[in-house]
Amino acid sequence: MTGVALVTGGNRGIGLATATALAKAGMRVAVTHRGGGAPAELFGVRCDVRDAEQVDRAFTEVERELGPVGVLVANAGVTRDRLVATMGPEDFEDVLRTNLTGAYLVARRAVRGMVRHRGGRIVLVASVSALTGARGQANYTAAKAGMIGFARSAALELASRGITVNVVAPGWISTDMTDELPEAARVEAAAHVPMRRFGAPEEAAAAIAFLASDAASYVTGVVLPVDGGLSLER
Ligand code: NDP
Repeated sequence: MTGVALVTGGNRGIGLATATALAKAGMRVAVTHRGGGAPAELFGVRCDVRDAEQVDRAFTEVERELGPVGVLVANAGVTRDRLVATMGPEDFEDVLRTNLTGAYLVARRAVRGMVRHRGGRIVLVASVSALTGARGQANYTAAKAGMIGFARSAALELASRGITVNVVAPGWISTDMTDELPEAARVEAAAHVPMRRFGAPEEAAAAIAFLASDAASYVTGVVLPVDGGLSLER
């Protein structure tokens, strides 16, 4: 693979594993961070995906330093789990702004250059919980389900321009996000996965890298679960 990839939230977790996989495949890779910096081997740009101006500045910097962005991975995400009855509007809105509005803002900015260059790959990182629902995650599943609708519509709009838009829907992956859960909850969760374990960030990254590659040139608008069979069980 050649060209430039930008991975939001690529400083850790699934995003970092994806950035590393794309770099190994031969791409020049930029990652966003929110002030914590990026690993030395990757080009880091500071960006909060909730803010359109920061998104524009980050893209401009990447384009100037590395060249036009041909692959966008919209991976930045947060959870703020609460039961619906106790979920405040700020818990709901902030999770939507980061996961859904953030994905829209970066995709919109990426599409400008991709249309000019008549091609590109956009991969959005949603979650299998968007397909199944999850107790305590009404905000998160609403955002992730919204990303799927967004991706399908964008895929239809952009197909004739040679731009694909796809979604990877991870199940349980071992990262800081899931390390926050108590050990007992993680053991219980793993027991419900047909493969009886959490996935590694590299396993989600491999699916993202495939959808970002030339090999996926005729794949658009799909949702690819990477979940050890979890979504089959519900
Ligand atoms: P982590 O918590 O390890 O990393 C989250 C990343 O998102 C960090 O790089 C963080 O940046 C970035 N981020 C958060 N908010 C913003 C923001 N406003 N602007 C820019 N960047 C932001 O999560 P994972 O690696 O586990 O998750 C990556 C994606 O995969 C997320 O979208 C998540 O919802 C999804 N996912 C994860 C699953 C899992 O089991 N781990 C399961 C299903 C989906 P910073 O370092 O600056 O905080």
